[in-house]
Amino acid sequence: MDITPIEVEGWRRIARFVDAPSGLDAIIAVHDDTLGPGCGGTRVRPYADVDAALDDVKRLSRGMTYKNALGGIPFGGGKAVIIADPKTDKTPELWRAYGRAIEHFGGQYFTAEDSGVTEDDLRIVAEETEYVAGVAEEGRGGNPSPFTARGCWRGVQAAARARLGKADLSGVSVAILGVGAVGMELARLLRADGAELVVADVNEDAVAYAKETYGADVLPAKDLHKADVDVFAPCALGGAVNHDTIDGIKAKIVAGAANNQLHTPDMDIALKERGVLYAPDYVINAAGVISVGLEILGSWSADEMTARIDRIGETLARIFERAAAEDRPTGEIADQMAREVISNARKAA
Ligand code: NAD
Repeated sequence: MDITPIEVEGWRRIARFVDAPSGLDAIIAVHDDTLGPGCGGTRVRPYADVDAALDDVKRLSRGMTYKNALGGIPFGGGKAVIIADPKTDKTPELWRAYGRAIEHFGGQYFTAEDSGVTEDDLRIVAEETEYVAGVAEEGRGGNPSPFTARGCWRGVQAAARARLGKADLSGVSVAILGVGAVGMELARLLRADGAELVVADVNEDAVAYAKETYGADVLPAKDLHKADVDVFAPCALGGAVNHDTIDGIKAKIVAGAANNQLHTPDMDIALKERGVLYAPDYVINAAGVISVGLEILGSWSADEMTARIDRIGETLARIFERAAAEDRPTGEIADQMAREVISNARKAA
């Protein structure tokens, strides 16, 4: 295997691994390891070239530094990308070679699933390295979606308290864009808490289920952001808050599970200017990585997960309070708080 270290200012360690016999071409990046080893999933994508793959792994590994810091787990920011088509190029040989690449990092990087990677893929990786999580075993790990939904529910509660002065969600209206694995469970939790729901999804069966089971109103997906509700919860793809949708948003809160909800970083300021309270996506949807972190630490249990996830609401409450006190956007405050967690750990070391 050819191993090429890539020096990038601001990143602890990056290396490219090329293994001709298996076709592996991967980059592993550890952004910051102050809090612990880098932890974050592996993404398989047919990147146009190595530069595109490197850009993505840098962006994603830095994002994990912030997510793990505010998720309260003792891990730094790590991520890996494999340049391959997940539909055609994944073979057991490729996964074994990738396992050896992770092993080369000697515990400085732990992996789990990201797009293009399944639990079965990781089982093969685990034949070559112990630095793998996200593989369900008796009583731990497995599908994080119900946990992610619980974190979002706690986040919506925290936001409703901060922005609407509501001690509970009875009568609070929530528009959920995407009632998939996370969105549907979020609908259940919100409804049980007395919220009124409006949903949209391209999957008509999912919409019909939400209507029948949770009494949700239904709107076309293109109109959901314009719903006259208290909370807009993007739970489908990224970019739900963009230059085309932002002026139509009537909700006073944006709080949902989707990654990269803001199409561009300036949307954070734009939401604030419109009086909309935004629950930073990487804080509210952190349950998956919290599960992975507990798995690695060997302290995963359903009770511990529930307790940790409930703290997502508390973290968001602190972000909202500070954003209000300093008159700054919530995303900016979240990033700053994550940097503070890291610099405090550095000072304590
Ligand atoms: P999912 O695929 O189960 O659900 C997504 C839903 O969105 C599906 O029902 C799909 O039909 C719908 N959808 C897709 N395109 C749409 C469109 N244009 N308009 C309306 N609906 C559309 O995925 P999920 O696991 O529920 O994840 C939802 C989001 O949350 C994703 O952005 C994901 O990255 C993010 N997220 C998920 C987890 C998790 O634990 N599953 C963790 C962190 C972040």
